[in-house]
Amino acid sequence: MPQKVVCRECGFVLYEDLDLKAPDEIMQQYDGKCPSCGKKLTFTPENIEVKPAE
Ligand SMILES: [Zn+2]
Repeated sequence: MPQKVVCRECGFVLYEDLDLKAPDEIMQQYDGKCPSCGKKLTFTPENIEVKPAE
């Protein structure tokens, strides 16, 4: 199932692919913060949203 990870603050799509990827790996790619709104990315349910891509 495709994976989609978006910033809860601004809706920026941090990751979208067919392969599942570890959240902390995605976080590393962005230096731990959202490139769009600058919010610190902590991969807790309050800060990001992981859902099946459409
Ligand atoms: Zn953001």
